[in-house]
Amino acid sequence: MDKKFMARALLISQKALPDCQPNPPVGCVIVCDGEIVAEGYTRKPGEYHAEADALSRFAGDLSECDVYVTLEPCSFTGRTPSCAKALASRRPRRVIVSILDSDPRNQGAGIQILQCAGIAVETGILADDVNIWLSSYLYQC
Ligand SMILES: [Zn+2]
Repeated sequence: MDKKFMARALLISQKALPDCQPNPPVGCVIVCDGEIVAEGYTRKPGEYHAEADALSRFAGDLSECDVYVTLEPCSFTGRTPSCAKALASRRPRRVIVSILDSDPRNQGAGIQILQCAGIAVETGILADDVNIWLSSYLYQC
């Protein structure tokens, strides 16, 4: 099931281009009781990231819901508030992340914010497929 929903997040992330640039095209799916209740993708710079886009489309309780996102949620406040903090405040049951963000401001810090908030985090789901699509848009050393 995790792969199926991550594949959906990967598919919708393609809608983010080209408007999202220079931010990476990320997709997010919120699943409650086996059903997708909201989807999001990265909007124009200064507007919603994928996670915030999806969270804005579902106002309900997330305590029995899982959030799938293709890239580690941002830990830092840039043009928009931190997605990791926004997710943490909504308290989903689990956050499933495909790949970590190579941006030096992130690199696991987004995962840590969620784990410190007591939220179960899983990483690496469909990582090969997501890497093929996303790696050229990520921070390069
Ligand atoms: Zn973000």
